[in-house]
Amino acid sequence: MKIISVETFTNEYVGLVRLRTDEGDEGWGQTSTYNSEITAQVVHLQIAPHVLGMSALDISEVNREVLEREHKFPGTYLYRALCGVDTALWDIKAKRANKSVCQLLGGSPSSVPVYASSMQREISPEAEAERLLMLKEADGYFAFKFRIGRECGHDIDQWPGRTESIIKEVRKTLGDEVSLLVDANSAYSPKKAIEVGHMLEDYGVSHFEEPCPYWEPDWTRQVSEALDIDVSGGEQDNDMRVWRHMIDTRVVDIVQPDICYMGGITRTLEVAKLAEKKGIPVTLHAANLSLVTLFSAHLMGSIKNPGKYLEFSIEGLDYYPWQDNIFSPDFKIVDGHLELPHKPGWGAEINQEWLSLANYQVSYTGSRF
Ligand SMILES: [Mg+2]
Repeated sequence: MKIISVETFTNEYVGLVRLRTDEGDEGWGQTSTYNSEITAQVVHLQIAPHVLGMSALDISEVNREVLEREHKFPGTYLYRALCGVDTALWDIKAKRANKSVCQLLGGSPSSVPVYASSMQREISPEAEAERLLMLKEADGYFAFKFRIGRECGHDIDQWPGRTESIIKEVRKTLGDEVSLLVDANSAYSPKKAIEVGHMLEDYGVSHFEEPCPYWEPDWTRQVSEALDIDVSGGEQDNDMRVWRHMIDTRVVDIVQPDICYMGGITRTLEVAKLAEKKGIPVTLHAANLSLVTLFSAHLMGSIKNPGKYLEFSIEGLDYYPWQDNIFSPDFKIVDGHLELPHKPGWGAEINQEWLSLANYQVSYTGSRF
């Protein structure tokens, strides 16, 4: 059962991949979002030539072959592109077994708990608290993440006083029974992060994400060791050396790989296994409502060490219009859980209209695209 074609359907933000085999199988995957047209070039120049003709069922071997043949390019675009092929192969493998990917991996929950994840920093504390409250009342969310500090902020706040104000405002508005999480996106030095962390502890915030520049693991470890609350991170990381170091030296209490930045399901499962051996939970990073959130739900539903909830972006089409109409069915949240129907593969139908508007390229056996 050989891979005979690799097709990409791409716009500026989203890139879908379709693989076909010589036995008539068809699988859909997605590369990582943003700059997707660059990523599609990587699919056709640095991945398709290696995987065409390989067995579609030996996914680990496909990963190994690509990464060894392209070992001079150990960077994000290779992994972003590889994710498109890897996730399409998991779709094929699961469809062949007449199972969902989650079931193929050994899980079968009908839903996974999520936290409502805000992507905004420009929003005022009052407006943020208000919209989180509306979501709690409408969809039963019981956990919420909001943004503090300034992205790569060198200890400077988005505007003076915003961080203190939003922590207080969200807790006051949502009440004591909900779980609160914050993301600092590499904002702080260790000293400032620990100071902010003590305030988070005072307000019962349970998860402090990426307090320090993520490329400074020793800084982050200082913060983890100084605080009682969970410190988390890892969304940007894709190198297994970095993951082994992060897990073995306990840089964080919770790891947060992103399936699409990692290169797909196969390599994310490797991280989950490393974390499992050390008793560290995995709370996947899934920051938009493209297929990354669907992939993440299947994986979170199957691993032995899932975190308490999957990230679920609350930003709709007004904030990310490019999320519109890519596939169906739409995500459905009931009582703070994402429904997970177990149809074969990813259980997603790609929208024909979306495909017809996308840029198309194909590599097939014997071709240069
Ligand atoms: Mg984050």
